[in-house]
Amino acid sequence: MKFGAHVSIAGGIDQAPARAHILGCECFQIFSRSPRGGQPLALTAKLIKQFKAECKKYKLTAYYIHTPYFINYGSNNQRIYHGSVSVVRQELERGTQIGAQYVITHLGSAKDLGLEKTLTQTIKGINKTLAGYKGKTKLLIETAAGAGKIIGDSFGDVAHILKNTPRSVGVCFDTAHAFASGYDLRIAASVKKTLAEFDQTIGLAKLKLLHGNDSQVDLNARIDRHEHVGKGKIGRAGFAAITKNSKLREINMIVETPAGEGKVDSRIKDIKLLKGWRKG
Ligand SMILES: [Zn+2]
Ligand SMILES: [Zn+2]
Repeated sequence: MKFGAHVSIAGGIDQAPARAHILGCECFQIFSRSPRGGQPLALTAKLIKQFKAECKKYKLTAYYIHTPYFINYGSNNQRIYHGSVSVVRQELERGTQIGAQYVITHLGSAKDLGLEKTLTQTIKGINKTLAGYKGKTKLLIETAAGAGKIIGDSFGDVAHILKNTPRSVGVCFDTAHAFASGYDLRIAASVKKTLAEFDQTIGLAKLKLLHGNDSQVDLNARIDRHEHVGKGKIGRAGFAAITKNSKLREINMIVETPAGEGKVDSRIKDIKLLKGWRKG
């Protein structure tokens, strides 16, 4: 398991690898465009070359793109639905250009159409996103916290989507989201149980990446509030168990916690803690 963080691309994507390196990252995640919307910055040949040179300099071979927040495959608004299809596809193409392994996306909400129709439209949307796609970057759907009517919170819904979309689609498991959706991760036994449930429902072979966030809210609180590793309701024992789990050895983990306001970036501590547990 390699550890990394979500880092900023302020000043250009070629600035991200150095930021990741300062935090002690062994892998990293970025937005390739503004997460709130608008046209993406062009990835010129020169920029891609600089980005790849920086990755090489810091020995960062595994990196990922997170799609913008407005993605909603379940929207009633055709502009948002089609926008989601085209933006996720663009991110996959951009990921391929920069050599990213995965594009991670949230699916959206069932508030417009209700769960059943939303799942059907999401399946249609993901298939459309991937139609004719020949790039190397793979799509991962992220497990959600189940806040409001967000879809992808239950392993069953994720499994249903995966059964009806191309085999290349995988899963990014967010620890805070899963915990807030009722999947316990607090001690080794609960980690084992949750992983067994994931395996039975979705299949562990589909698990490609972890978002390693602790949770400010209790088990099954159905709110998405990230906390620094070990400082939330999942806690140190849970994270230690996750990092040591032999079934997760080949899966990397990205922390999506805030930088904090102290002199030292709080994510440095998160990554250091995780590396310590991996060793011990
Ligand atoms: Zn996410
Ligand atoms: Zn979250």
